[in-house]
This record gives sequence, structure tokens and C-alpha cells, in this order.
Amino acid sequence: MRDGQCSKCASERVYTSTNGIMMDTRLVLYIKQGKSWQPTKHWVTYLCVDCGYYENYLSDPDILTQIRDAAATLQWKKVD
Ligand SMILES: [Zn+2]
Repeated sequence: MRDGQCSKCASERVYTSTNGIMMDTRLVLYIKQGKSWQPTKHWVTYLCVDCGYYENYLSDPDILTQIRDAAATLQWKKVD
């Protein structure tokens, strides 16, 4: 999607917008971190206007770093 081509239908009509898809009425995504959920307003959306498929990429560097450095304690598992 980030390269401008839809990963589902191969269309090249992909659009992007900061926070383009909201997950609740407060415009905040919640990221699971152990037993708690941390809010973030930092993500980028890529949307295919042919099939409707979209992807959201978290762009909050603090949360990305926390998950990378302490995945197990935050109940994340690296995909191998
Ligand atoms: Zn598509």
C-alpha cells in the first residue's frame, strides 16, 4: 500500500491521509500494552478507492519503540 499499489486488488489508485480512518468517535487509537491500553493520535491511513481496502500505520515513535524494546512484557509477540 505504501508504494501506491493496493496489496489486495493491485489497483494503483491508493490515497493516503494522516489519521484518515478513525477507530472511535474520539479520533484516538488504543494500543495494547500489557494490561493497559495507551492512546495515540498518530497514524497514517492508506486507502484503495477501487476495493475499499485500507491499512493504518502507527506513526507514534514512542509507542513503536516501547513495543520493540519490551514486547514480551507488553504482551506483543514478534512475527517470525
Ligand atoms: Zn484495492
